[in-house]
Amino acid sequence: MPELADVEGFRQVLADHADGRRIERVNVADAGVLRGVTARQLGRDLRGRILGRPWRYGKWVVAPTDGPVILFHFGMTGSLRWAGGHEPPARYDRVVFVTDAGDLRYADMRKLAGITLANDPADASRVLRGLGPDALSVSAAELGRLLGRHRGAIKAVLIDQHVIAGLGNLLADEILWRARIHPRRPARSLNAGEQHALYRALRRVLTDSVRARRVPPRSSWLTGVRDQREARCPRCRTLLCRGRIGGRTSVWCPRCQALAAAGA
Ligand SMILES: [Zn+2]
Repeated sequence: MPELADVEGFRQVLADHADGRRIERVNVADAGVLRGVTARQLGRDLRGRILGRPWRYGKWVVAPTDGPVILFHFGMTGSLRWAGGHEPPARYDRVVFVTDAGDLRYADMRKLAGITLANDPADASRVLRGLGPDALSVSAAELGRLLGRHRGAIKAVLIDQHVIAGLGNLLADEILWRARIHPRRPARSLNAGEQHALYRALRRVLTDSVRARRVPPRSSWLTGVRDQREARCPRCRTLLCRGRIGGRTSVWCPRCQALAAAGA
């Protein structure tokens, strides 16, 4: 599932190839990914427009033009790639933005999210309005304040986009494992030391993941072993636990992330 790091990679694709390019036409192979805009409108409103510098907020990529603003969300299976030459279309390419230099291709197998068109930057901000601060720019103090307001399980709070934007299942589990905090701990039960450990883990995991453009499946990371049978903690070799928290499958080490250590 695309999380902050993957989405930052998609933003980079746009920045590297499409910034300053003219959109010649938009080919919509499947309008099932369009949100609040028809294929006809999308083509009409974007034809001849020049793409500007893209930015990311949480799991969204925002691509301004000299007219409307395109917003991309990637759901569970979305992606954005650049095809400079005559690369044949891929099976799940849903929308292709044909520019004067190549194609920007939005693919999505499951079509759970998609493409929105805003009239201008203010309209784009309205689409993003309900989101919490971006995980890459949240400060330690702000994170502490946000956690203090929520009594739910820390794992569920971290992946709630209305609290903090950008973290998904892999990032949240990785951060909690690195900070040695049990995913079921009530968010507001964390003491100052634990909040600090969480913030440091968040910065470290995000920095490394953004560099890799995904959560890197290194053997020294939880993400590198979590899908193995009888997976063991990369730190202490204890068998990992697995359970559903906040509607998602969570993985943690019962030894490094003891629930009994709760300060609440
Ligand atoms: Zn462990």
